[in-house]
Amino acid sequence: MTNSCRKNSASNGFEILIQGTVQGVGFRPFVYNLARRLKIAGSVANTGDGVRIRAMARDQDSLDAFLAALRHEAPPLAVITGLRHQPLHQPLVDDGFVILASSTGQGARTALPPDIALCDDCLRELFDPADHRFRYPFINCTNCGPRFSIVESIPYDRRHTSMKSFAMCPTCTAQYQDPGDRRFHAQPNACADCGPGLFWHDPGGGEGATITPLTGAAAALAADQVVAIRGLGGFHLAVNAHSSTAVRLLRRRKGRPDKPLAVMMPDLQVIRRHCLVSEKEEELLRSPVHPIVLLKKNRPFSLADELVFTIGELGVMLPYTPFQQLLFAEPGCPDVLVMTSGNAAGAPICTANDDAITRLSPLADAFLLHDREIVTRVDDSVARIVADRPQIFRRARGYVPAPLTVPWPLPAVLGVGGSQKNTFCLGRETSLYLSQHIGDLVDLESSEFFLESLAHFHRVFQIEPEICCCDLHPDYLSSRYGAQLGIPLYRIQHHHAHAVAVMAEHGLDGPVLAVVLDGTGYGPDGTVWGGEILLTEYTDSTRLAHLEQLPLPGGDSCASEPWRMGLAALFAAHDHRPWPENTLPGALKAIDARKRRVVNSMLTAQFNSPLTSSCGRLFDAVAAILAVRQQLSYEGQGASELEALARTAATATWYREIDTVSQRRSLRPWGEKDGKLEIYSTQFVKMVLTALDQGRTRAETALYFHCLLIGALAGLLVELAESTGIRQVALAGGCIQNSLLLEGLRHTLAADGLQIFTGEKLPVNDGAISFGQAVTGGLRHVSCNSHAGHQCSG
Ligand code: ZN
Ligand code: ZN
Ligand code: FE
Repeated sequence: MTNSCRKNSASNGFEILIQGTVQGVGFRPFVYNLARRLKIAGSVANTGDGVRIRAMARDQDSLDAFLAALRHEAPPLAVITGLRHQPLHQPLVDDGFVILASSTGQGARTALPPDIALCDDCLRELFDPADHRFRYPFINCTNCGPRFSIVESIPYDRRHTSMKSFAMCPTCTAQYQDPGDRRFHAQPNACADCGPGLFWHDPGGGEGATITPLTGAAAALAADQVVAIRGLGGFHLAVNAHSSTAVRLLRRRKGRPDKPLAVMMPDLQVIRRHCLVSEKEEELLRSPVHPIVLLKKNRPFSLADELVFTIGELGVMLPYTPFQQLLFAEPGCPDVLVMTSGNAAGAPICTANDDAITRLSPLADAFLLHDREIVTRVDDSVARIVADRPQIFRRARGYVPAPLTVPWPLPAVLGVGGSQKNTFCLGRETSLYLSQHIGDLVDLESSEFFLESLAHFHRVFQIEPEICCCDLHPDYLSSRYGAQLGIPLYRIQHHHAHAVAVMAEHGLDGPVLAVVLDGTGYGPDGTVWGGEILLTEYTDSTRLAHLEQLPLPGGDSCASEPWRMGLAALFAAHDHRPWPENTLPGALKAIDARKRRVVNSMLTAQFNSPLTSSCGRLFDAVAAILAVRQQLSYEGQGASELEALARTAATATWYREIDTVSQRRSLRPWGEKDGKLEIYSTQFVKMVLTALDQGRTRAETALYFHCLLIGALAGLLVELAESTGIRQVALAGGCIQNSLLLEGLRHTLAADGLQIFTGEKLPVNDGAISFGQAVTGGLRHVSCNSHAGHQCSG
């Protein structure tokens, strides 16, 4: 860069184009102040394409210093992905440095910033009686506040956000226009005189003329009522987390009997009263994202037991908006609040006041509302730390829509994702934009959210896809949507997409050995896959090994009734005959005999019993045998409760036992079948039964099962690494969210000298499928076009 400056230094005038997350992060004020400091004349403007600077320096050194500082001193939230410059043909008139009004460019490539949690400066001002914005519930600045959730179109300017309906007062205007101010060009800038406000809506007690919205909310929460709170990216349903009565009421009304509920606590001091917090976890809790972080509960646990059943972790977040801070500061407000998504079961989170009042009235006693419209719904993100590394379960608020970059230019591509935990991925060239968590695409409401959000991404990134990539499963709503677009369609196998998501996140060249431990995914052979070892390249994938197939008696109902899987695994373990009644594990004997007879006859007749190599269903089978649970109320419940049970038997260095327990050096629980290797899952099932017979506790047996599975996978991977010469292993799939499985595999494989990669910035669950699809489909399209000279789909 420096060299080219010197060559073209005739006029010392340059045009500089910067791409990346450079709008809404205080970039223009930063450039302005930098230019003044270095005595650079010219201008800076947001364009549809990024930020454009025209600069003229008095001498070469200050121009070089300017270019260097643009990169090195950029504001904390800015992410520069491209910086190009060229000499200006016409010299600039030296009349200082100015910020120009935005111009809308063609083909916008500017990343929109995500929503950012309240910053420390704004927090201080919020509680400073001398400050202009003392106790103002919507205080923000260039370093914090809403972004993605309020943007209608680009460039990111106030007139393109839902703040356009609020005209700034003279004080706010002056700060907005003052380059030395922290609110210089802060688009959502507002104060009590001119900006949005809070409202209290209590259908029972009227509009509450005598109380303020915050005192009303605090009092209702203290009285164990359910309060619907309009937040940043949608509504929350809040209750007092200390009160069993309140939590039970919320569970009953929401139709959510067991699934863990996340809580919000005002600060780390309160969090430490209830949970263990490591340094890394603290960092994640306090990051600009402020995600829900899964933390280990303290023993004894002093919050309502009904928050999480069986599981040893609690999802906790810190307040990320000023009004959440104010609510906690309100006298009498409980210091721990359940903050669960404000939606009716299965429907996406509510965003508009009217809609919420209609749909949440059966659930909530009162409403804390505001009038800053939410343009795009975005749920709270969920993450945790496993062995000092982050793992994301739900990628939404605070992360989206930051771009993911890949090293190869791709055509304009849309990946429509899978069916559960759906996201889509829209991209072009080297930037891919993964949508916020959409949810399960099973009904009209969640697919409306999909379509709405997709339309929004089209609008703000101005990408018109040339190709679409979908799952191999023809009946997914996402696949059907992709098929009717009328552009080349690439159908990517589910577990291939899982593996590629991890490869692309880490920029691996491939091929890799991919271990995809998952619930279900459609296999090219028409069976249900889900426990796979694949030899994976970006455009292709070969199945090397899989878990032994188990029948699914009753098909889809197995996913919610683990006892069916328990009987199926025992059936398979008993040479495909019903397991003898007299030695049936107690947990299964407790199931109604007629129901068992029906399932056993289905298994015997091979009626409505498709085969699956799913790892999730194997966990369900073991969960059933170990009496963990026979009926599930949410996806993955059996597996996560089995993990929690095993956790109670695990020491800090439990994984050192894997070699011993699995005896994997001598025991090779796999063999060849139809040209693939098959891992004998039924052998684990028999060993689990033996362990129980020998008097091991359920918890010890659950941990033993984890060790057997890890030992077998690791043993087989070592052999495959030797035969293929590949030493990079990608771990993916929903079961990798099991931290015992992940820690155990990491430890054991690393000890064998293999390199392990797994999702850290992206979920390992189906939330990353669309990204994997887009990369694989995009690269297939490029290679088809370059090799065959024409388009091909498949
Ligand atoms: Zn701030
Ligand atoms: Zn104002
Ligand atoms: Fe999956």
